[in-house]
Amino acid sequence: MALAQCPSCNKRVSSKAKECPHCHFVFAGQSEEDLQREFIRLQQEKKDKLLSRSMLALLLAIAAFVYLFLQQPLPDSWQYNTAIGVMIVGLLWFIINRVQMLFIKRKRR
Ligand SMILES: [Zn+2]
Repeated sequence: MALAQCPSCNKRVSSKAKECPHCHFVFAGQSEEDLQREFIRLQQEKKDKLLSRSMLALLLAIAAFVYLFLQQPLPDSWQYNTAIGVMIVGLLWFIINRVQMLFIKRKRR
């Protein structure tokens, strides 16, 4: 049985398969144009996922900031350190997701 590469997730699939078992991408009876459109749709889906994830990260950072602002825990207490930690992780996560989104956008052209 010959193996082909799935155009959407790049995993190996049987060339006889009508659908990718990994990402359920359908290849049977698709023209080059259809495949291209499907590829763009999947990229969009990935971007939407990254966008919602980056929003969650931003929300986390904002929540930590609001906590610091309202509760004003003592510096070097565990509450203070945790809030700062969450804020930094949230911001980093946000930036990482944004950079990944830019990368997806650039790959499309
Ligand atoms: Zn696939």
